[in-house]
Amino acid sequence: MQINTINLSNIQIISNPNLLYFDVDLLCKTRPIVMRPIQMVDTKQQYLKIKAEVDAAIHEVLDTASYINGKAVQDFTASLNAYQGAGFTIPCANGTDALQIAMMALDLQPGDEVITPSFTYIATTEVVALLKLKPVFVEVDPYTFCLDPESVKKAITPKTKAIVPVHLYGHAAPMEEIMAIAKEHGLFVIEDNAQAIGCDYRFADGTVQKTGSIGTVGATSFYPSKNLGAYGDGGAIFTNDAELAHKMKMIANHGQQTRYYHEMVGCNSRLDSIQAAILNIKLRELDNYIKARQSAAAFYDAAFADNEKITTPFVAEYSKHVYHQYTLQLKGVNRDALNAYLAEKKIPSMIYYPVPGHKQKMFSAFNLPEIDLKVTDWLTERVISLPMHTELDIEQLSFISNSILNFINN
Ligand SMILES: *Cc1c(COP(=O)(O)O)cnc(C)c1O
Repeated sequence: MQINTINLSNIQIISNPNLLYFDVDLLCKTRPIVMRPIQMVDTKQQYLKIKAEVDAAIHEVLDTASYINGKAVQDFTASLNAYQGAGFTIPCANGTDALQIAMMALDLQPGDEVITPSFTYIATTEVVALLKLKPVFVEVDPYTFCLDPESVKKAITPKTKAIVPVHLYGHAAPMEEIMAIAKEHGLFVIEDNAQAIGCDYRFADGTVQKTGSIGTVGATSFYPSKNLGAYGDGGAIFTNDAELAHKMKMIANHGQQTRYYHEMVGCNSRLDSIQAAILNIKLRELDNYIKARQSAAAFYDAAFADNEKITTPFVAEYSKHVYHQYTLQLKGVNRDALNAYLAEKKIPSMIYYPVPGHKQKMFSAFNLPEIDLKVTDWLTERVISLPMHTELDIEQLSFISNSILNFINN
């Protein structure tokens, strides 16, 4: 057997008393170390660990030939519903559809105002505009990157119908405050949980709930790079409201309950059986995946601690962090030069997101450039996301953080 990399699993071997003869240090000295290539997300390596199970599950779908809404979809929906602690879970084709179906089911009318962060992925706000609703962009908190309740309060008008908090990068938005504002003003809350599946929110009274199941409705995505990623597209909607669940299920299925009797305008948004079969296996691993992400984050946190030019991700008391992204804020660092330096070392990094919603051309009809969102603009210029996934090993993490420190301290 040739040992090419020293990864976490090798290091764990030495703590196994039966394998004490396995000397990692010696191996390091005597064999050339070839580090596995670093990726933003390593879905391939993750797949290899569950390959036998996944391949069997895919073949089972092929054997039964129930590609659409088969047993796999029903099984996954039930497991996800239990995991989420949701009243109802409706699978659909992707996270963007999940948001759209939720907004359609809430009967929002053209011109209704929807308060959303500008600092988010475009899908959140795009569906608002697509349904001819008016996106009202507000600020995020400079530490958590999530919706700022004070900014939400200031944006409420008689036309406001809903608030869309985004649990960005895997950190929960301040749901307790948002729910209180929504209750006071009679607004719906649509949680964009695409980046935070598995995240727990702790209320002041100590109760804990999964993000995505706190608001009126929650939307999530199974895009391959998401924390619970399929090998294709997928999404789901959560709600505790039986009537709303029924309506969303119909909307996702051409507005029908009985085949060919269409009661309302809907769309076609289905989760494939093959994706559901894969997701059902991956859901069992989700908590372990989150732990692996948290370990990688802890490594980065320690490496960058006390560096005045780097602010590591903040974790609020009320939130667990599931680290969909590990995003630094840089102070007095030339970000483009750092990016180029890392790229030269084959270390990928990304800017999520380079242009905030209120500056996107697609919203020009809403005359948004007049909006002044200082925190959002400030963050947009300073954030950088590092490789974050379940398969990062110590060698890769050291190489990434040492390279960044090397650049920053020189
Ligand atoms: C990924 C994502 C979506 C959309 O999910 P898709 O499955 O790609 O349609 C929506 N909102 C946020 C914040 C996302 O990260």
